[in-house]
Amino acid sequence: MIKVIFKKYNLVKIFPAFFLLIWLVKVPARVYSLSGTPETIIKVGILSGKKRVHIKSYGKLEVVNINTLDFVRLKAGTDYMVEAAAEGIKVGDKILGNEVRFVSLSRKEMLTVNGQRFRDTIMIKKTKEGLTAINELGLDGYLFGVLPVEVSPAWPIESLKAQAVVSRTYVMNNLGKYKSKGYDLSSDIFSQMYKGVEVENPKSNRAVSETAGRVLTYNGNLARAYFYSSCGGYTAEIKEVWGNDILYMRGVTCPYCKDSPRYRWEKKISPSLIKEKLNKKGYNVGEVEDIKFLSRTASGRIKEMEIIHSAGKISLRGHKFRMAVGPNIVMSTMMSIDRSKENFLFYGRGWGHGAGMCQWGAKGQAERGRSYKDILEFYFPGTKVKKWAY
Ligand SMILES: [Zn+2]
Repeated sequence: MIKVIFKKYNLVKIFPAFFLLIWLVKVPARVYSLSGTPETIIKVGILSGKKRVHIKSYGKLEVVNINTLDFVRLKAGTDYMVEAAAEGIKVGDKILGNEVRFVSLSRKEMLTVNGQRFRDTIMIKKTKEGLTAINELGLDGYLFGVLPVEVSPAWPIESLKAQAVVSRTYVMNNLGKYKSKGYDLSSDIFSQMYKGVEVENPKSNRAVSETAGRVLTYNGNLARAYFYSSCGGYTAEIKEVWGNDILYMRGVTCPYCKDSPRYRWEKKISPSLIKEKLNKKGYNVGEVEDIKFLSRTASGRIKEMEIIHSAGKISLRGHKFRMAVGPNIVMSTMMSIDRSKENFLFYGRGWGHGAGMCQWGAKGQAERGRSYKDILEFYFPGTKVKKWAY
């Protein structure tokens, strides 16, 4: 009977079109991922506050008004200028509503936004500040565009898999982080750096696919999986950095990150730069005369420090000092200090806050034949890698 109905109405042909229509009407909460398992759709803010955005595809595409479901067929290979107009969003010579979705109708061709390719769909929202572009895509597709920015695809596969699991766990912990702006995650350092298809690499894609669905868990719950570039020999307990206590983020000895170019670093910083940076964060200091390190944490990082300046002195946590002066200037708080005639000289080890996974250490462990699970259980003692039903 069903066969007859299928034949009569040619449903074999109509079915894919039917599902496409469903897709246009409502982006489902799940799609089938590249690895064949259902996965969450996430929304990544890729541009904001723009007057205009260029969208193009070399295959057929459509733009849909999300509120009325009116749609306009667009031409393959044409560069469409999308602008914020008083009455809504202008695409070419048509005006649509304040929220539109661009959909590629070709399996082979992706959408480009200002010349950069992105997987799945692109939503454009008009806000007071201008246009926001949001890439809506499956979690693994997103991780494809994250991994090569976080760690070099030339690194051993097990270290890339460890990064795939911590990055996936980060996403699951941060869905809806930018809900008020209409997306889950930003594409900059305030979430994870995401650069779309242009940075994808077959080896890092493989690391994502081979760990599909796997996240870090503790006692059956999603764990917090922090990471950073290199620890300099000892990882930090999380309370050394942010003051809160998480059982599986105790410090461990890490002899594996010595190849990191920042395993040891030196920085010459002028008193005037320190004054300027601290005042920008509201500390209100005069001319900086001296800096004293008062105490260290269990892993040897600066806990409390004192800034002696022309109008008095202030004390602050080492982590706060690092963030105020700049995390790429004061690369870690595992450091000592000296004074030359005009400048402060900082000598340190490692790059990053030090809590959780040391990326260079993960590389070092993978080179010694450890699996991604061994690596993660080393940096997060007591946790387990598990397939997560999301
Ligand atoms: Zn390390």
